[in-house]
Amino acid sequence: MKCTKCEREAVYWTTNHKLCKEHFFDYFESKVFRTINKYRLFNREDKVCVATSGGKDSMSLLYVVNKYCKKRGIKFFSLAIDEGINGYRNEALDNLKDFCKEYDIKLEIFSFKDRYGKTMDQLREKAINEFGKTPCTICGTFRRSLLNKKARELGATKLATGHNMDDEAQNFLMNLFKGNMGNNASLGPIVGVSANEKFVPRVKPLYHILDIEAKLYAKYKEFNLCFCDCPHSDMSFRKKIKLKLHEIEKEVPGIKNGVVNSFMEIMPTLKERYKNKKEFKYCSKCGDACVGEKCNACLLEEQLCK
Ligand code: SF4
Ligand SMILES: [Zn+2]
Ligand SMILES: [Zn+2]
Repeated sequence: MKCTKCEREAVYWTTNHKLCKEHFFDYFESKVFRTINKYRLFNREDKVCVATSGGKDSMSLLYVVNKYCKKRGIKFFSLAIDEGINGYRNEALDNLKDFCKEYDIKLEIFSFKDRYGKTMDQLREKAINEFGKTPCTICGTFRRSLLNKKARELGATKLATGHNMDDEAQNFLMNLFKGNMGNNASLGPIVGVSANEKFVPRVKPLYHILDIEAKLYAKYKEFNLCFCDCPHSDMSFRKKIKLKLHEIEKEVPGIKNGVVNSFMEIMPTLKERYKNKKEFKYCSKCGDACVGEKCNACLLEEQLCK
């Protein structure tokens, strides 16, 4: 099958085009650049922190943001969290270090072990057996908190994450099924409903990129990375939704796009409705903005890390 735009062999099919490798790269990068420009995710005044894990999404994100920022003279750096997941994160971080060296990108790494005194591998059993929490709940809360703190300390004005369209569709449906529409108000290319000086605004340049597109981009660019799954991910509700969505998408192509586009239609209403609903307090332990006496990360730390 030939590329619609040239004579080379097509490697990716969109609804309108068949694309060869080179034209797929153009398609991917223009989609990310358009997202950054359309939603004004960052500009020359910003110092962008790219949250990276060494996985396909964040590596593709880092590569494209590197291209975008260097061309426009926008300051940026990369930040990774080592959760302490043996055989998974350590290998991914080794690849990330090589990648940052190759493209001359500043990389900062902070670990759960240093901040919370325990690795994710060590927290797993206690989280499940004593507190009935999935590893992903713990990991997500600690990682979000640490990313925000470190990005802020390093002077970032925007925190770019590798969340793609599949992640957004999953998030929306997970909140919908659990009846948490308030959480859906926080979704979108720019995360959250209310600003606070303790939160570095989080933005999602891969918002309109499908998971498969990020995977193929990383593959055809020949980034050195592992496409394996986290050993703790089996139990998550997200994984169940992810598999269901893949299943339906196979039968009805375009449904992920449909879910995210439907969300985009109601997003302004949701953001308006939940804006300033929560009054911010400051965590008595770490000083971060939160809604209770202590932030979720500090509460979990007290339960699990003693
Ligand atoms: S799958 Fe869950 S435990 Fe594994 S890195 Fe992601 S959030 Fe953490
Ligand atoms: Zn082509
Ligand atoms: Zn706290």
